[in-house]
Amino acid sequence: MTRVLKVAVPGPFRAPLDYLPPEPHSSAEREPAIGCRVKVPLGRRQVVGVVVGTGTRSAGPEIRLRAALALLDPTPLLDGELLALAQWASDYYHHPLGDVLARFLPPRHRRTEANAQQAARAWQLTARGHAAEPTSLAERAPAQAHALERLQTHGRAATNATLRRLGVRADVMRRLAQAGLVERITEPAPTDPADLPSTAVGHQLNAEQAGAVVAIEAGMDSFGIFLLDGVTGSGKTEVYLHAMSTALAAGRQVLMLVPEIGLTPQAEQRLHQRFGDAVTTLHSGMADGARLRSWERCRVGHARVLVGTRSAVFTPMPDLGLIVVDEEHDESYKQQEGLRYSARDLALIRARNRAVPAVLGSATPSLESLHNAHTGRYRHLRLPSRAGGASQPRLELVDLRRHPLEDGLSTPVASAIAATLAAGNQALVFLNRRGFAPTLRCSDCGWVAECRRCDARMTVHSRPGGLRCHHCGARQPLPSVCPQCGAPEPLPIGQGTQRSEAVLARRFPGTPVLRIDRDTTAGQQALHTVLDQVEAGEPALLVGTQMLAKGHHFPAVTLVAVLDADGGLFSADFRASERVAQQILQVAGRAGRAERPGQVLIQTQEPQHPLWQPLLAQDYGAFASAALDERRETGLPPFAHLALLRADAPKRASVWGFLDRCAEVLAQPNSEVAVLGPVSALRERLGGHYRAQLLLQSPTRAPLHRVLRQGLEAIEGLTEARRVRWSLDVDPSDLY
Ligand code: ADP
Ligand code: ZN
Ligand code: ZN
Repeated sequence: MTRVLKVAVPGPFRAPLDYLPPEPHSSAEREPAIGCRVKVPLGRRQVVGVVVGTGTRSAGPEIRLRAALALLDPTPLLDGELLALAQWASDYYHHPLGDVLARFLPPRHRRTEANAQQAARAWQLTARGHAAEPTSLAERAPAQAHALERLQTHGRAATNATLRRLGVRADVMRRLAQAGLVERITEPAPTDPADLPSTAVGHQLNAEQAGAVVAIEAGMDSFGIFLLDGVTGSGKTEVYLHAMSTALAAGRQVLMLVPEIGLTPQAEQRLHQRFGDAVTTLHSGMADGARLRSWERCRVGHARVLVGTRSAVFTPMPDLGLIVVDEEHDESYKQQEGLRYSARDLALIRARNRAVPAVLGSATPSLESLHNAHTGRYRHLRLPSRAGGASQPRLELVDLRRHPLEDGLSTPVASAIAATLAAGNQALVFLNRRGFAPTLRCSDCGWVAECRRCDARMTVHSRPGGLRCHHCGARQPLPSVCPQCGAPEPLPIGQGTQRSEAVLARRFPGTPVLRIDRDTTAGQQALHTVLDQVEAGEPALLVGTQMLAKGHHFPAVTLVAVLDADGGLFSADFRASERVAQQILQVAGRAGRAERPGQVLIQTQEPQHPLWQPLLAQDYGAFASAALDERRETGLPPFAHLALLRADAPKRASVWGFLDRCAEVLAQPNSEVAVLGPVSALRERLGGHYRAQLLLQSPTRAPLHRVLRQGLEAIEGLTEARRVRWSLDVDPSDLY
């Protein structure tokens, strides 16, 4: 019998692989423990795997076990809690454990070179530095005097990020170091919870907020899920901050998830103000080195609060005591490729495993969460009114059958914008379509520019001009004549944000027009610059996509105009009405958040649509009840559990051949699990591939997972599987 390591390696392996332990490099080196990374050979490659178990095995002549090449961590990098979470995700999403674990690691830890578990670099004052008088330096070296004074006031070790916040440059620190006043340390001392600024800095909570905080605090030592259902501006963040400081004071760490990178600076800023250096951030826009440092600070317990996007849910936090998921309804919590996990759902699993509370916050909760609140699985905490005296905005429809559009704007909207600007306020124009125009059409023959590889129209872009496919990224130059009939200048039809920006600049000269969408805010810095300008409060027009609708606080915005609300009203997707309702109420929530009242105008061709009634009354609860009734009748989530098996390939026949076989494999007589399809995807051709899907639907979860567990092994072995790309999506967020 030989001792072996069970190693989860990236790749399509349903079970960990066996390796012999690595040759020790020194007598001091211990055998790899569970949770350590090892470098192992895999075929002709070397990969990073995680030890998930040990065992013995009789090594007969027929099996040649290979040895791991090196131990990469002296002590386990992932603790038992995270390994359990990974195993849960692997089982639930039916995804190989090695691939799941690779997601848990920051990019630098996925590499085969052993890069020491490096901690954040920081600076601290030396004894001389503590004693020195900044004024003694002021004459000779004012920058150094300033830095010294800032560090003395700060009182603790400062990371580079902190130095930036304190306005201290790196070269100044180096000169202070030469003078023996500061020194570099590799690890900032852990923040003592007693040193954290107290909650007194925040607002005096109103009665509803206080009630919510009391409820959460009472549940601090056990698992429980709280749905904090509060209208926009009701002070949810304030509630999180109070609950967080209670957890911190008890020596616990806090994980806070936010939907998008764009939101982290604002959230981070508020958390920094309250909790100082104890806060760290994680999101995919960060450089690998910064991500690693942040991850390690959490893992060793130096960071006490982590605010991050989706993948931050995988960060080790040994003292985890509270999880907050802000804007829990947001689609960006669902990963749409590879391991298609929901960060919100994994956060709840984590809370359960750790026996700590989780707070889900939203002004427009997902129907799933509301249903769980109605059935008592979640505690429902409500904040029905805006905090700090701001009133709810007024919502009105603009009937486009009575008010024709000129450049995408109806007269009521144009005059409301003019009045808003004249009163010295800001207006926000919402249009969920980037680019200049969604269609390029020849007015002579009716030709429309379409993507050659997708069932989709090309979007017209200006500056830089050209046609772009928003689905596959294809680009083409703008044709000067119609390729079909040769008539000159095909016309852009319809409105995108670029066109609205141009129109608004022309109609309201002298007012700055700020556009916010994925094209203008590719970098974080660009977004910051625009947001700073908005926050300054001077009259301005903001135009943008749903990026504008999320969480930002724009105190001077008093008018929100929704240019085209009809897109989602008749969509085939079962979540479309939920999305429209959330989007409208979220964007409406940007209006009048300070002392000035807000107005929201929604342009629609369909004023009779039943969706409008509850939305105009801003009664999301009424909308949700009706929508839940509909889901119950049609057997859709949360009243059924879904899994979607998607496949695509350059040949349509390969896709259908594969899915037909899958349907045979998965369909079982007398099973609760319905296998529906295959059907082609809503947009059948994308990037040159044909796409189709098979839907599995079950009133309860267990049989669905049983069918998948049994079926997937057979499906992986199908010869048809080699001719397609396929993936499984458990709890799909949409059925496209
Ligand atoms: P939400 O997260 O629900 O959108 P915020 O927590 O951002 O709401 O609060 C909205 C605004 O109201 C912020 O400017 C915040 O400072 C302010 N605010 C929150 N709670 C109070 C309170 N109890 N008293 C006064 N102002 C408050
Ligand atoms: Zn033509
Ligand atoms: Zn395309």
